[in-house]
Amino acid sequence: MDISVIVPLYNEAESLPELAAWIERVMTANKFSYEIWFVNDGSTDNSWQVIESLREKNPCIKGVKFRRNYGKSPALYVGFERAEGDVVITMDADLQDSPDEIPELYRMITVEGYDLVSGWKKKRYDPLSKTIPTKLFNATARKVSGIKNLHDFNCGLKAYKREVVKNIEVYGDMHRYIPYLAKNAGYGKIGEKAVHHQARKYGKTKFGLDRFVNGYLDLITLWFFSRFGVKPMHFFGLLGSLMFVLGFIAVVFVGANKLYCLYSGLPYRLVTDSPYFYLALTAMILGTQLFLAGFLGELISRNASERNSYQIETEIK
Ligand code: UDP
Ligand code: MG
Repeated sequence: MDISVIVPLYNEAESLPELAAWIERVMTANKFSYEIWFVNDGSTDNSWQVIESLREKNPCIKGVKFRRNYGKSPALYVGFERAEGDVVITMDADLQDSPDEIPELYRMITVEGYDLVSGWKKKRYDPLSKTIPTKLFNATARKVSGIKNLHDFNCGLKAYKREVVKNIEVYGDMHRYIPYLAKNAGYGKIGEKAVHHQARKYGKTKFGLDRFVNGYLDLITLWFFSRFGVKPMHFFGLLGSLMFVLGFIAVVFVGANKLYCLYSGLPYRLVTDSPYFYLALTAMILGTQLFLAGFLGELISRNASERNSYQIETEIK
């Protein structure tokens, strides 16, 4: 099979027939063998009935129905598990992404050899409240992930080599950082294609402004995982040592000062009157805490089943 299209959807009944017809048109025009996985993420409208009736007309249409709403990442995860095409394409259900981009995306993966090609909504049709924070979000993501050529990490329209989707694990809200996940899994040939974007035709967006807060926290998590995932002590140990050294210097200062004043008969004050005393106290407590966090992290990662799972490309025996 050439292509698997994965469409996560939550309450998008009005868009589905149009979207399915459009994808079918593109696939037949280019003679691709294909499947479309509609992953119904606990919709409360009649999306599922629509999918069932679409399937009756076209056996290439397949569907999964979640019992409740889990989120876009879980929907993608389930689609990735099932995809059988050589190239896997993800696409939003709201008709904002155009299926006309599929042939070129397919070519970039199969001919140019990209592991992942992300869409770039160069000219977007979204409200300003979304486009401005998005610029900031992408700049941060570029910096942290080191994938410098991507303008639009979270574009719903993306194409992958099948191997890539089988070797990454999207969960929580991590769909925003799939290129980063792919890079961490060793699939570094990541490209970009400017794609057409349309305003949402039916329904409304499923994400609010909290997407930016959560997105920012997730980025920190991913950065931490990729740098210190199996060696947390290298992170906490360093911070803890710095704290400890700071505390130690302050202690020495307080103690030496007091002794010096005592022996030279100068007026002296209680050590608890010195600001350095409090600095030493907090720094040493924090330092110990950080070390403890490091040890706990090491204990946890020692028991993690993935601590020795590597992406092996080839092997000679
Ligand atoms: N979506 C989903 N589960 C959710 C939220 C969204 O499957 O909990 C789907 C949604 O139906 C759409 C895609 O994810 O197909 C992108 O959502 P949306 O268009 O609301 O995001 P935006 O374009 O505003 O970023
Ligand atoms: Mg949308």
